[in-house]
Amino acid sequence: MAQAFRNLAVVPRVVFGRGSFEQLDGILSEVRDGGAPFVFLVDDVFARRDLGARLPLRGDDRLMWVNVDREPRTSHVDELVQRIRQDCGGLPRGIVGIGGGSVMDLAKAVSLLLTNPGSAADYQGWDLIRHRAVYHAGVPTLSGTGAEVSRTAVLIGPQRKLGINSDHTVFDQVVLDPELIRDAPDPQRFHTAMDCYFHCIEALAGTYLNAFSRAYGEKALDLCREVFLHERDESSDEKLMMASYCGGMSIAYSQVGACHAMSYGLSYVLGLRHGLANCVAFNQLEEFYRAGVHEFRRMLELQRIELPQGVTHEASAAQLEKMIDVALSLDPLWLNCLGPDWKDRMTRDRARELYSRM
Ligand code: NAD
Ligand code: ZN
Repeated sequence: MAQAFRNLAVVPRVVFGRGSFEQLDGILSEVRDGGAPFVFLVDDVFARRDLGARLPLRGDDRLMWVNVDREPRTSHVDELVQRIRQDCGGLPRGIVGIGGGSVMDLAKAVSLLLTNPGSAADYQGWDLIRHRAVYHAGVPTLSGTGAEVSRTAVLIGPQRKLGINSDHTVFDQVVLDPELIRDAPDPQRFHTAMDCYFHCIEALAGTYLNAFSRAYGEKALDLCREVFLHERDESSDEKLMMASYCGGMSIAYSQVGACHAMSYGLSYVLGLRHGLANCVAFNQLEEFYRAGVHEFRRMLELQRIELPQGVTHEASAAQLEKMIDVALSLDPLWLNCLGPDWKDRMTRDRARELYSRM
């Protein structure tokens, strides 16, 4: 029988709270079997920060700093998998990813490719993974993407930017410690947080919406408003971290829309980071999300964030066409945004006009 309702895979173990990072050692020790080591993939922004010294490395555990100045690629995953296999002489006991969405996605993908043959690019798509991953834990240091709860690991591949979507992608454990996002600088903190805001706006306005998605989406949206329509206070990081979690849960049972579709084109062709690309795209999508765009502009103003203007103005005609190809290839996103006759309403000309304003 066809599956009518999604049987959602969720993260089975979650620890939340200020200072909860200190518990990671104990959590891993319950999983250790005395043999294979853990590999810590950690965002290299922490190489010279206090967090680097607080990593609970034991025995033969390996620490690999990862650089995510560019968003993760399938080739980066393949390299890491090869290095880990060589270094550990086999499978590690598990992977711990510590960083923003990029490092968390790398950690998820590496854990999958350690047990599934071939290249990460072979698995970009839906449910192509055959074997369960090695144990993998995620520790966010930026909040907004929802990568800590999602069933995807988004990667730039040889053909396009697309996630490895599977039940096996989901982390076995996440550690949500608001202290770890405290020092994330603006505008990065804001851009990443807005990913959550847009997830919710797109899901709540979408045709895929159901009560599960709405419940989490509305809560996440409220939390984003509490954080960004007010001055920052000591509760902001906790709220933002929970917004990201709820936003991720909301989107897991619905879908994003026009903003993410257009944003993917900007990232793929112009290399804009996801959070920034979303902000640039969303700002021009009044015709889809009028109230949301106005509220977003208020947040920009209150948080004193300036968006770059004219990011597509230097793009060649060929680049513009490629952006349109990428955006319009994302059927489910447009279906969610505009319904089954989306192709009549979202033409190449309309997409070109929107891009030319960004
Ligand atoms: P990121 O992980 O790409 O990091 C952005 C920058 O911030 C990097 O330079 C990083 O080194 C730095 N950084 C991270 N934590 C920091 C901290 N605490 N202090 C200072 N600097 C810090 O940013 P992101 O917005 O969290 O993630 C974006 C990525 O997530 C994209 O690749 C996107 O495709 C992906 N994504 C994944 C999902 C999913 O469900 N898997 C959802 C949305 C987006
Ligand atoms: Zn997103």
